[in-house]
Amino acid sequence: MCYTIPGKVINVQDNIATVEYFGRHKKAINELAQLLPGDYVYAQGGYVIAKVSAQEAEQVLRTWQELFVSLQEIDAQLTRPVLQNKNTPLEKILDKAVRRVSLTGEEKLFLSGLTEPRDKELFYKTANFLRQKYHANACCVHGIIEISNGCGRNCNYCGISTHNKGLVRYRMTKTEIIEAVHEAVMVHGFKALVLQSGEGAGYSIDELGEIIREIKNQYAVLILISFGEIGKTGLKKLFDCGARGLLMRFETSNPGLYAWLHPGFSLASRLESLRDAFEMGYLIITGSLIGLPGQTRQDIINDIELGCDLQAEMLSFGPFLPHAQTPLAKSNAPQENDMCDVLALARVLAPAQTKILVTTAFETLSAQARYNGLLCGANSLMLNATPLAFRPLYSLYPRRAHEQESIAFQVDQAVSLLQSLGRVPMDLGIADRK
Ligand code: SAH
Repeated sequence: MCYTIPGKVINVQDNIATVEYFGRHKKAINELAQLLPGDYVYAQGGYVIAKVSAQEAEQVLRTWQELFVSLQEIDAQLTRPVLQNKNTPLEKILDKAVRRVSLTGEEKLFLSGLTEPRDKELFYKTANFLRQKYHANACCVHGIIEISNGCGRNCNYCGISTHNKGLVRYRMTKTEIIEAVHEAVMVHGFKALVLQSGEGAGYSIDELGEIIREIKNQYAVLILISFGEIGKTGLKKLFDCGARGLLMRFETSNPGLYAWLHPGFSLASRLESLRDAFEMGYLIITGSLIGLPGQTRQDIINDIELGCDLQAEMLSFGPFLPHAQTPLAKSNAPQENDMCDVLALARVLAPAQTKILVTTAFETLSAQARYNGLLCGANSLMLNATPLAFRPLYSLYPRRAHEQESIAFQVDQAVSLLQSLGRVPMDLGIADRK
């Protein structure tokens, strides 16, 4: 099974390759020497990650060509035309969004506060329509390896923070990490992997750099890092070793709420890291927690807009799920519908610009999260490729979805769900940022 489909290079200019997938042209940054028109490549997140032989590419493409076309039909049927009438205030606002006319602040608030099931349905369908229009039936499937649950930060909501004194801490060795990467890439076909840990998990930047360099030497895979705030020098060093993506949520766009949740830390410094990383060439995955105590609907609209302002390649919004060993143990989690509202709003406000993830936390909140999320604007999944023995220790929140599932099982589940929705596990490259 393959998580990215080979494309044919149409031309290469400076370091930008134009790559064709089933008639669609996409641009990808090329760092490989000697790439020529006619070559076949795998690209991820807008980076060419490997050349493939014509024989391998043509074989994979033959399998997908037929499926791609029949899947597109399923997707199109599920994305029935919406907005035949434009009479109600809701229809008028959604029509504006479809025509890509900017919405006013009040209109955004109106969308985020719908209560009638019929209104919500129209809102979600419009989001799905926009997803289909700008991203076709591609769905990114990345893997994540949680290399350590060590953390020096005191985030008031987080189960691996310093608040959780009783948690057994682990730190995978370089060999264990490379073995996990090997399995994800060579056995399960992942082409993009996030390496994640708490902040200050005990690895030096040089150690992390060495691990990334070795992975990049051995495997054709896009590496995204998620080690928290590692400073500009740290980001630069890891970029030089081959990391090309950063997963770091800003958690909330509200500076006061941020300061209350993260005593002693500031939103400004987190945003500075995200902006530095983007400037260096990192693909950015960012977003926020939904349902935080005191968070307003306007805060969530601001979260979406901040994610776009940070030029996110992918937005990641997850419900806040209270963890017993943290100061916020007694707070409430949001409802499933609240999450669908956020995903739909993100898609309506940023139709073409960004991929939107169905997060594991959302899947933990609701067994229907993937299905519903993918039908209200989302187009990305992240599967857990952490060795099973470590997974329960990466206890951000209780009863995490997929905690006990092998990678093979998760892959099967994801692929069959995607196929039932007419989606292809494929990365079509950098989103249209206009
Ligand atoms: N050190 C990395 C990874 C942090 S853990 C970093 O700073 O980016 C990954 C994410 O888990 C966090 O960004 C946070 O949004 C989420 N998380 C932590 N505790 C949570 C909780 N109780 N409920 C839901 N998500 C949580």
